[in-house]
Amino acid sequence: MRVLITGGAGFIGSHLADAYLENGDEVYIIDDLSTGSLDNIAHLKEKGAYRKRLFVHIDSILNRDIMMELVGTCDVVHHLAAAVGVEFILDHPMESIKTNIQGTEIVLDLCNKFKKRVLIASTSEVYGKHTHAPLVETDNIIYGPSSKFRWSYAASKLMDEFMSLAYFRTTGLKVTIARLFNTVGPRQTGAYGMVIPRFIGQALKHEPLTVYGDGLQTRTFTYVKDVVWAFMRLVENDAAFGEVFNIGGIEEISMADLARRIVAATNSSSEIQLIPYEKAFGKDFEDMQRRVPGIDKIGKLIGFDPQTPLDAILAKVISSMRKRTDTI
Ligand code: UDP
Repeated sequence: MRVLITGGAGFIGSHLADAYLENGDEVYIIDDLSTGSLDNIAHLKEKGAYRKRLFVHIDSILNRDIMMELVGTCDVVHHLAAAVGVEFILDHPMESIKTNIQGTEIVLDLCNKFKKRVLIASTSEVYGKHTHAPLVETDNIIYGPSSKFRWSYAASKLMDEFMSLAYFRTTGLKVTIARLFNTVGPRQTGAYGMVIPRFIGQALKHEPLTVYGDGLQTRTFTYVKDVVWAFMRLVENDAAFGEVFNIGGIEEISMADLARRIVAATNSSSEIQLIPYEKAFGKDFEDMQRRVPGIDKIGKLIGFDPQTPLDAILAKVISSMRKRTDTI
């Protein structure tokens, strides 16, 4: 099978490429390296058997001509190319909206034209600022005002979901939507704000861990290989098309507790520092206080049941970051 992964040099995309190549499939990657990196796929190019089945295009998904060629060639498309990371969105507001809206429009239009199956990677940000748990796919959404730019990410990904569902309804496009809840694992960079690589990087350098706000906000974390497992099954399952699925872990933890756990797991002498949001992001910032997924829907359809505990995820990331201090 030929698989196109947009954003394939990114953190999740590169793990998805690993898995399809291990399966014996051909993998086509398009990535503009805005947040992805060739380092993420360097190991694949070294393996002779993989090299022959891996095709990498450094280009933007907004380049319709190259996208036409790639979608036309492949049997299935995983659309992961997007502006990601709260810091990146706040620093590049215009570019983020453009990539997330126009890029997805091109992907959907071409998948529809060539009748290809497609998975659209969405985000738990779409739910907005709920505090109840768990969040389920049929929940209402609550956003802050448009002056708070964080919500532009949620709104743009929500528009991607609406576009996808509109194609499904009007043309029967085989499209499925995955809402990701804080995916983590080796190769994720802390450069765009992601908390686990940041805290681990700080702990390994014995620098203070920067906990934003009061540190009582919570998250659950999903191991990237569990996410990849789910992506590969969703895009093969006819009952997944026209549907939205949460993909996330179940172990809820506050950021202050996470920081303490990371300090202990790395034997670090780091202190934990509380930093007001305003100091970290300016005054127009609003955090999500709680984010816990309901995963019954995806559990029932494909048996998704993430088994990697947070301590095991942390151990894997710590070990990979000890080797790659450049990703800190
Ligand atoms: N966070 C933090 N310190 C950091 C980076 C992030 O306390 O150095 C917090 C952030 O405010 C949020 C949580 O960790 O409450 C998760 O942040 P991340 O950007 O990883 O993902 P989000 O869930 O916000 O998309």
